[in-house]
Amino acid sequence: MNKRKLTKKELQERQIIEDKKFNRTMLISFSLLIVLTISILTFYTYWCDTKYAYRQYALYGKEIPLDLVCMNGNNLQIHESSKESYQGKTYYFCSQDCYNHFVNHFRQDAFVPDSFSGDTICKADALIGLKNRGEPQVVYFKNKKTFNQYYEARR
Ligand SMILES: [Zn+2]
Repeated sequence: MNKRKLTKKELQERQIIEDKKFNRTMLISFSLLIVLTISILTFYTYWCDTKYAYRQYALYGKEIPLDLVCMNGNNLQIHESSKESYQGKTYYFCSQDCYNHFVNHFRQDAFVPDSFSGDTICKADALIGLKNRGEPQVVYFKNKKTFNQYYEARR
C-alpha cells in the first residue's frame, strides 16, 4: 500500500518535471522565433541603408558604377540614379531637380578638376571614386592612372 502511494507521488513529480521541461522548450523555441522574425524585419527594413553604408567602405579605391552616383550632388546614391543625355553626353542624376540644377549651371557643374592631377575634365568622361572611406562624396578622375595615383597617395 505504502509503496503504491509513493509510486503515484513519484509519477506526479515526474509529470511536473516533464511539464516544466516542455514549458522551457516552448519558451526557448518561441523566443527564438520572435528574435528571428525581428531580425528578418529589421534586415528588410534597413537593407538599403545597410547596403549604402557597406558600399561607402567597399567601393573605396574602386571605380564606382555611374548609376550609383548623382553628378549634381557628387555623391553616392542609395538607389540607382537615372541616366540623362545632355549636349551629346550622358550624365547620371538622383532626381529631376538635380538634373535641372545641373543643366542650369552646366558650366560650373559639368566640369571638374581631376582630383589628383587637377586637369579639368567633363564628368561624363570621368572615372568616379569615393573621396574618403566611409563617406558618400565622390571625386572624378581623367583616367585610370590618376585614379590609382590618388588612392595610392592616400594609403
Ligand atoms: Zn542628386
